[in-house]
Parts: sequence; structure tokens; C-alpha cells
Amino acid sequence: MTSFSPLEESCRLISVLCVWGINSDRICLNHINNGVLCIASLHPRPLSMLAKMCTLLLSALLVTAGSLVGRAPPKVIESCVQPNTVAMTFDDGPYIYQTVVSDVLTKYNVTGTFFVNGDNYDCIYDSDVVDRLRYTFMAGHQIASHTWSHPNLKKLSANKITEEIVRLDTALLAILGIRTNFMRPPYGNYNTLVRQTAADQNKTLITWDWDSGDSVGESYQDSETDYDKIVAEHPTTLLALNHETEKNTAHYLVEYAVTKLLDAGYKLVTVAECLDLPLYASQGPFGTRDSTWQC
Ligand SMILES: [Zn+2]
Repeated sequence: MTSFSPLEESCRLISVLCVWGINSDRICLNHINNGVLCIASLHPRPLSMLAKMCTLLLSALLVTAGSLVGRAPPKVIESCVQPNTVAMTFDDGPYIYQTVVSDVLTKYNVTGTFFVNGDNYDCIYDSDVVDRLRYTFMAGHQIASHTWSHPNLKKLSANKITEEIVRLDTALLAILGIRTNFMRPPYGNYNTLVRQTAADQNKTLITWDWDSGDSVGESYQDSETDYDKIVAEHPTTLLALNHETEKNTAHYLVEYAVTKLLDAGYKLVTVAECLDLPLYASQGPFGTRDSTWQC
């Protein structure tokens, strides 16, 4: 079977559909970014106009494709690079257990990373949530993006993905005065469109190379055993997925994992530090609540 590049495939589709369109009353353009643009009800426009529209569609596609040629999808980071580091990450908050997790990390003089949402378990603008988030941030832990509402980004258009990123960015700037370059796509789900759109918003996608299993129904005792196993294997680095929204993670698992990892000689740091990248793109004063602070 002949395989076409996305550009070739789109051009082929346009030519087929434009020819088809002349004999019917609509043109469909299967765009390379998965979107399908349909121009319907062209009838009874003259064929010359239809031909002109085909040409315009094709040139628009070539401009778009041209900007993508040679532009490989941005990399997705799954692992730390600094030897002997572990990045403990905590997703899906901010939630009621966040300060518990923060305090455990602080007790052992280590740092972690919180990939937070805008409106998931709690609304990020609620005053007690703002207080918890600022507390965790001031304790030196990294705050990064997990999108506004925790959707499966693979199912969204570029505009919707952008909205998910920008809305949380706005909240983090207002509440903490930060701009983050780090984003974890919910469920670890992404495709080329997600990668490109995130990159357009200056986001590096971060997933994980090890899962504590705390959000998929494992008991915390099983998660502790999982930590025992990975510590025994002693990989050079670890980028560990946990959830601050799990009560047993906050109250039992974090302390267990931190002590085991420290005993094994690892350095527990933020994602930024384990990648040797800046913690934030920019950092300024906290904002003041106004009428826009709403979910
Ligand atoms: Zn999540």
C-alpha cells in the first residue's frame, strides 16, 4: 500500500475532493491537523468560483504545511537527566491534602513538583485553595501545569487545547506570579497536535517513567511495595507519578517513599532541577483577588 506524508495525503485529498466537489455541491478539506473543514452548499456558484476556492484551499494548506516542514513535534520528557535524582510529582490538585504532602517533603528537606489544575477537585481561585497553593509554593516546591479542567487533550481541537493551557496560566500568574514552562497532559495523553499546541504556548510536556499506582485503585500498602521494588532496582533516575488528591498518599505513601529513596542515596528534587532547567519562565509578586478570580 502506498503511504503518503501528511502533506501529500492532504494535497491528494484536496484534489480528489475538489474534483468531486465540482460534481456535487460541497468541498471538504481534511486538514493535516486532524480538523475537517467543510464548505457546503456551493451550488449554484459557477464552476470557475469553485475552481478558485480549490486553489485557495490548496495554497492555504501549503503555507501551513510549509511552516511545519522540518519542524519535528516537540519532545515529550519522560525521565530525569541529572544522575541520582528522583522527581516526586503530585497531580490533580490543588486539593485539601496538598499542604500535608508539602509538609512531609519539607520535613525531609526535599522538594517535589505539583502538576495542578484550575478546576478539577477544587476551584483554584477558592480562597482556602489559594492559601494552600501559596503555602506549597513558598515551601519551595515546583508548581506546574496539568491544564485547566483535566480533559483528554487528544480529543480537543487546537483552540480548546490552547484554552486549557492559557486559562490555567492566567490563574497561576494571578495567584503565584509565575509562568511555568512545564505541563503534564492529563492521563499522559497526547498526540502531534497536543505537542505542537503546547509548544506554541512555551510548554514542555512532562510525563513519567514510573507510576506509584495510587490513582488506579492500588492500596497504599501495594504502592509502598512498588516503591520497595523500584528502589531495589535502583535506576539512575526516577520521575515518579503520585496524586496529592489521594488521602493515603498524603498521609502514608509520601513519607514512606521519601525515606526509602533517601536511604537509597537519591537526591529528591523538582522536575526542573532533575532536568537542569529553570524552575519558572518568570516569577513576580502574587496578584490581588479581583472579580476575574472565578472558575
Ligand atoms: Zn491527572
